[in-house]
Formats: sequence, structure tokens, C-alpha cells
Amino acid sequence: MAYIEPAPIKDRENPLESMMSRFNIAAEKLGLEEQVYNVLKNPAKQVIVSLPITMDNGKIEVFEGIRVIHSNILGPAKGGIRFAPDVHLDEVRALAAWMTWKCAVVDIPYGGGKGGVRCNPREMSAGEIERLMRAYTLAMIDVFGPDKDIPAPDMGTGPREMAWLMDEYSKSHGMTVNAVVTGKPLVLGGSLGRTEATGRGVMVSALAAMEKLKINPYQATCAVQGFGNVGSWAAILLEERGLKVVAISDISGAYHNSNGINIQEAIAYRDNNKGTLEGYKGAEKLSTPGELLELDVDVLVPAAVEDVITTANADKIKAKLIVEGANGPTSAKADQILVDKGVMSVPDILANAGGVTVSYFEWVQNRLGYKWTAERVNRRSDRIMKDAFQNVYKAAQQYDVPLRIAAYIVAIDKVAKTYKFRGGF
Ligand code: NAD
Repeated sequence: MAYIEPAPIKDRENPLESMMSRFNIAAEKLGLEEQVYNVLKNPAKQVIVSLPITMDNGKIEVFEGIRVIHSNILGPAKGGIRFAPDVHLDEVRALAAWMTWKCAVVDIPYGGGKGGVRCNPREMSAGEIERLMRAYTLAMIDVFGPDKDIPAPDMGTGPREMAWLMDEYSKSHGMTVNAVVTGKPLVLGGSLGRTEATGRGVMVSALAAMEKLKINPYQATCAVQGFGNVGSWAAILLEERGLKVVAISDISGAYHNSNGINIQEAIAYRDNNKGTLEGYKGAEKLSTPGELLELDVDVLVPAAVEDVITTANADKIKAKLIVEGANGPTSAKADQILVDKGVMSVPDILANAGGVTVSYFEWVQNRLGYKWTAERVNRRSDRIMKDAFQNVYKAAQQYDVPLRIAAYIVAIDKVAKTYKFRGGF
């Protein structure tokens, strides 16, 4: 099976270091006071639990569960739960901080959190996963709460796991508490518009950036890496706005058609083909999947995995604009190469924040006991994404920095100011 060539070792960054290197640059530009820097640098709470689970074979296995609340200065912590074999504390700490900045950049009243359980859900039965999710919820019963910490799905978890979390939390509290978690199935209080929300935010921020770069969407080409939730929604919505999507890719490889790929058709193909583009005939398969990143297109949307744009390929990128659908697709060391080449990058904490924005709307609807139409959800999230882009763009000009650093500046400034007004805890 094809795969994206992993980043050379020298570029492989500990996610915490990668986040901190950007944080440090932004903090310095902002002139952040040392004492506030020290507050924001450290997570507010880290909880590690052991979860003994009876497996289907009758044996007991013990799993490690982590929850990190990086900050609850702006409001309750918000962030997903990852079920993966390589979950470790440093990664969860970095992802939790990322959530703080992401929520602050789009100006929603949440802090940042993240959770993880070290396990391999692909090798577990549904029953084992359910027992693990319920045990994790019980172990975190005093951590979670609609006003304290609101989890969501991440890698290896989805609406099914969120339903179990909500059920377990509700049973412990003797009442239905659907606002304790987002990303739930619609029937349990999930929000319309959540499925497409991240891809939609990618589209909105891509169009806002194209306007600044004076790129006409109707004459622009685009390549999208990753054809899952974020990539396929971004592709279809960008196509709807006039862009010609000339390349798409997934774990099976990258597919290129200079006349444009019919995205609707590619999605239908994937859905009837066990979720992959393997064997897709609407485009030519590129000899290596990494070539997609180096195509001569106007807009590049990495929407698969982290660390795909590195010092090994950054100077070969021809796109004028990169819109980061994935979390952390560009290594910190590659940032400067792109800046020197004049490539504009809309950073992950801004470009893919449409998802957390609609998660926030899910929580708002749950608390109101009310359901919004998809039209209302989309209109409000589009407005939030547009405003956030303009704010970050303004900060980039004011501080004379790239959009990534500007996004961190906007976020850190907001959290730091709030912290000061509140007078700390
Ligand atoms: P997904 O699992 O739905 O899709 C991932 C896609 O990437 C699939 O098409 C898969 O085949 C492809 N892929 C995986 N490994 C690959 C590889 N090595 N080479 C090429 N393609 C590969 O996941 P998603 O929800 O679309 O998330 C994608 C990225 O966006 C992740 O970084 C995620 O953290 C980030 N993100 C997602 C959301 C969301 O709401 N889903 C929100 C914010 C950020």
C-alpha cells in the first residue's frame, strides 16, 4: 500500500517542541510577560489513570488513559479523545495546548484539553472498546463536565464512543447530560452541519486568503491530500466555489487529472469501495503519493496527517497558498522555507477550526435544549471563520509576521488578557 514518505528524522519533531517553537516566537513578538508566559506554557491539569478491562477472552488487560487540560482560562476545556497505540503524555499535552490556541483564535469561550487511551482499537471488539470507553469516562468523572471539560472524538473514536461517554456520565449523575460531550450522533443531540464543518471552514478560509492574494477561484487549481472527512468535504466545497481540483489522495495513493476531478463522483467511488480511492479511474495515479504536494497548483490543502511538508520538500512546493486542513502538516523547520518562497500558509489552528466551532454550537444547542437548522449552523460558522481570518490577517500586518505566528499572537494575546483581568486562579 502507498504511503506518504515519512519526514526525514532530522525534521521529526516532538509535537510539544513543534508547538512550543511557534508559541515562543509569537510570545516574543507580542512581548508577553515572563510570568504569564510561564502560566500559559504549562498545562493546568494532567490526569493519568490505569484502566483494567476484561477482554473477550476473559483476561484482564490494563490500559493507560490520559486527560490533559492545558487551560480553562477562557472557559471549560474542549478537546478530543484519541484511541491509538502510540498515545503519550507529550503528544496529549501538545494537542491540548493546540486546542487552547485554536478556540481562542476563533473566539469561542473554551479552553483547551485533550485525552487519549493507549490501545489499538483496530484489534479490539466493539464490546472491548465500549468497556474501555466507559471505564475511561468513570475514571474521568470528576474531570469531565459541561462546565469543566467537554470531550469530543479524535483519531480512533467517533460518535459511537461519544454516545457511550454521554451515557456513562449521565448515569453517574442521575440525569441526561448531553452537553458533556460533542460529536454525538444526531439523535443524541449532535449538531447538523458537524460532519462537513471542518472542510467547510477550510473552504471559507481558503477563499478569504485567495481574496487577499487576488486569486480568482474560477481560474484556480487545487490539490487536496487526504480524502477522509476533512479532505473530501474541503474538495467538494472548493469545487462548488469554482476551483478546479486537479489532484486528490488517500492512503491508497495520489490521483491527478489536469482537467479537474469530478469530486462528487470520486466520493461516490470511495463510498462504494470500502472507503478508499484504490483503483479510481477518473484520474491518473501518481508514481509516488508525495508528488501531489509538489504539483503546480494555486492552492494546496494537506488534510491527512502531520509532518508532510518538511525541510525535504518545502522548497519544491509550487502552490501559492497552503490551507492546513490537517493538524500539524507543516514542520516548524519548514515554515521559514515557505515564507522565504512567498507561500502563504493558513495555519491549522485557524484553517481547521470550523470543526470545533460547530462542536461549540452543538454544546450551545444542548444547553438551550433546542436544535438549529443546518442553514443557521453554516451561516454562523462561516461568519466566525471569516472574522477569525480577518483578525489574524490584521495581526500579521501589524506585527509583520506570517499568518501562523499571527494566529498564535491573536490567541495568546486573548488568553493572556483574560488571565490578567481574571487575576489568575
Ligand atoms: P479521516 O480519517 O476521515 O481521513 C484521513 C484521510 O487521510 C483518509 O483519506 C486517509 O486515507 C488519508 N491518509 C491517512 N494516512 C495517509 C497517508 N499516510 N498518506 C495519504 N493519505 C493518508 O480523518 P479526518 O477527520 O479527515 O482528519 C484529517 C486531519 O484533519 C487530521 O490531521 C485531523 O487531526 C485533522 N482535523 C480533523 C477534524 C475533523 O473535524 N474531522 C478537525 C480538525 C482537524
